[in-house]
Amino acid sequence: MILVFAEQRNGDLKKASRESISEGRRLAAKMGMESVALLIGAGSGDAAAEAAKYGPSQIRTAPDVAAYSADAYATIAASVATELGATVILFPATAMGVDVAPRVAAALEAGLVTDITGLELDGGSLVATKPMYSGKAVATVVYESDVKIATLRSNVFPMEENPTDAPVSAVDVSGVTAGASVTETKVQEGGKVQLTEAEIIISGGRGLKGPENFPMLQELADQLGAALGASRAAVDAGWIDHSHQVGQTGKVVSPKVYIACGISGAIQHLAGMGSSKFIIAINKDEDAPIFNLASLGVVGDLFKIVPALKEELAKAL
Ligand code: FAD
Repeated sequence: MILVFAEQRNGDLKKASRESISEGRRLAAKMGMESVALLIGAGSGDAAAEAAKYGPSQIRTAPDVAAYSADAYATIAASVATELGATVILFPATAMGVDVAPRVAAALEAGLVTDITGLELDGGSLVATKPMYSGKAVATVVYESDVKIATLRSNVFPMEENPTDAPVSAVDVSGVTAGASVTETKVQEGGKVQLTEAEIIISGGRGLKGPENFPMLQELADQLGAALGASRAAVDAGWIDHSHQVGQTGKVVSPKVYIACGISGAIQHLAGMGSSKFIIAINKDEDAPIFNLASLGVVGDLFKIVPALKEELAKAL
């Protein structure tokens, strides 16, 4: 049995969860198993209908858990995994997924591979691939444990609709304690589109010259339905909040399109966006390292190129 922890908040099923459920179904088919999606928290009943579109054999829900608590969520996930005899447990590598997965691994004495970009069967073994050393190397990890756990990098595993009439049943959470109580929840100001969920990201670096120029990028992002990212240089300068930072000490993203504006392409930045499918770089220095990785490079002044791009998009959209 494969168990997929599917993060949802107030009925909104995360894109990364859809990808994980899709991968759970594909892996279950290869292993001759069933896949079960687990949704915890208020709204999980609503999210279950959405989860069913991605082909789990069953859905378990625990809507009566009032607020997020890593301990409570991990206790529930571990007990459902034990009840089902799950041998593989998949988590999206979201903030919640990476918080809960290690606790479940510890509780079940399971092998855990984080931030994976591939999961394959090799003979009888399950093999995960994961980028290491800021993306400079890719590790191939063969699980030896009975229970195998992975967190799946967003935007890497294809999201595939495969609707099923999966039965939905509730998990008994009566004995579960939170360990800590949540007194207040504040929604972080982080732009309109979530960075780690976005299919398109527009990022700005030191080349933007100051905070007053980020709204220009935000407008371009709005036109494209994209999220706004930034280099650490821009964040450290106080031009934009750290929640936008992409890179080794920021967020790891893997969108379909990544547009880097005035970003040189330091290795620590590439560590966070190097697995993007199509990279467009706008930089006035033709020797900027970002061009070594870019699928499309535009050598020029971003203060001319970005407004021109916005104008053309306004005509086309
Ligand atoms: P710069 O390197 O200064 O590049 C600015 C670019 O803008 C230049 O290439 C320039 O040619 C171009 N430019 C200037 N004006 C224009 C214009 N008008 N039009 C077009 N182009 C223009 N960095 C991250 O981004 N994320 C991280 O998570 C991160 N983590 C780090 C962790 C550690 C431990 C360390 C040591 C560093 C980390 N860094 C990180 C910092 C990283 O090494 C770089 O310093 C940083 O990425 C540089 O940001 P930048 O490309 O915006 O600035």
